[in-house]
Amino acid sequence: MTSTSSTSSADLFSRAQQVIPSGVNSPVRAFGSVGGTPPFLTSAKGALLQDADGREYVDLVGSWGPMILGHAEERVVEAVREAAGRGLSFGAPQAGEVTLAEEVISRVGPLEQLRLVNSGTEATMSALRLARAATGRDVIVKFAGCYHGHVDALLAEAGSGVATFAMPGSAGVTAATARDTVVLPYGDRDAVTALFAERGGEIAAVITEAAPANMGVVPPQEEDGIGFNRFLSETAHAEGALLISDEVLTGFRASREGYYGVDGEGWAPDLMTFGKVIGGGLPVGAFGGRRDLMGLLAPSGPVYQAGTLSGNPLATAAGLATFAGLDETAYSRLGSTSRALQQLVADALTAAGVPHVVQTAGTLFSVFFREQPVTGYEDAKAQDTEAFTRFFHAMLEAGVYLPPSAFEAWFVSTAHTPEVLDRIASALPGAARAAAS
Ligand code: PLP
Repeated sequence: MTSTSSTSSADLFSRAQQVIPSGVNSPVRAFGSVGGTPPFLTSAKGALLQDADGREYVDLVGSWGPMILGHAEERVVEAVREAAGRGLSFGAPQAGEVTLAEEVISRVGPLEQLRLVNSGTEATMSALRLARAATGRDVIVKFAGCYHGHVDALLAEAGSGVATFAMPGSAGVTAATARDTVVLPYGDRDAVTALFAERGGEIAAVITEAAPANMGVVPPQEEDGIGFNRFLSETAHAEGALLISDEVLTGFRASREGYYGVDGEGWAPDLMTFGKVIGGGLPVGAFGGRRDLMGLLAPSGPVYQAGTLSGNPLATAAGLATFAGLDETAYSRLGSTSRALQQLVADALTAAGVPHVVQTAGTLFSVFFREQPVTGYEDAKAQDTEAFTRFFHAMLEAGVYLPPSAFEAWFVSTAHTPEVLDRIASALPGAARAAAS
């Protein structure tokens, strides 16, 4: 690959800062918590990225999840090219929407109907509105460290960029909105039970990441054979509240059926949200669930929800082509790549004496820079973020592009071949020593 621009990342970043707040269109991209200039990317193919300075990196971000088949995957690009030739947007129904909805519903048991939107944020925002309308209640329960997009009601103690920048929430969220959101520690069943005992009749819904991955990966734990998601569904349902399972990040990555495929035994969420993988790199989100709930949406029902570009033909073509590549073989490859990489990282950090713990949810994983397992947001915040920063920069210098935050999952793709893993393996010992220093 060759660079397509003679303008350096540093020049572009300085120009960007004049015209775009902090120079970026999404906060974590600014490298604020790790420092330095973010590489401006010019192209990507397979597991490799090329930046404006002519450098190449192995990518472990994958556009934060969507690029599960690797970048510029031929069938996906061809599907988008072909769709583009037939028109960029209709603002009217088209077949790709139907096929994409059928594909998603066929993979995830509890889904009966699905509506497409343009981002994960839109999906969770719409699911909340629907839950409130269906129950006639206002209060939403979320968990500390879970990120559900930049929806006002869900920004309190959120993970991802909110965690990266140690923000308690966001300015600009009204007191009334914040009052209707109750934040509980992730996994704390006693806190959930106590809240429902006190305010059950006010609670519209509990929203949770199916497996939290925005404070790093914190898989839900079982107690007495009952998983946390099942416990939430039973507790919510006993009080007439709904459970919204957010699979924007885990959906079709943790397994073929998303995280529901990992722990969906004996329980069902009422609503689910999706994004990332279902658009194959183009802007798509979706929310879905029980037919009676989804039937409340306009135009047949009273809950308004709409979108000029929703169900866009290029986006549905990219999503469908991505799903076509996501068969059992792809998931078994993702699983073995993920496990091999976890082992490489753990071995390098152990050899350098760096305290760490690797946590997984299906094929998804992350590395915490602390010794003890992480079960919630307080644990995640207690890791050595400075060691991570040293590790991150050494990896970047050696040509491996990690998420620029200690609070994010690492993303592999089916294009991460053994040769690509070898490149990561060569970078690891030096980075582990840097983390230890
Ligand atoms: N929900 C979860 C679990 C996410 O991880 C994200 C984004 O990272 C979102 C919602 C928001 O999605 P988007 O960034 O597409 O708005």
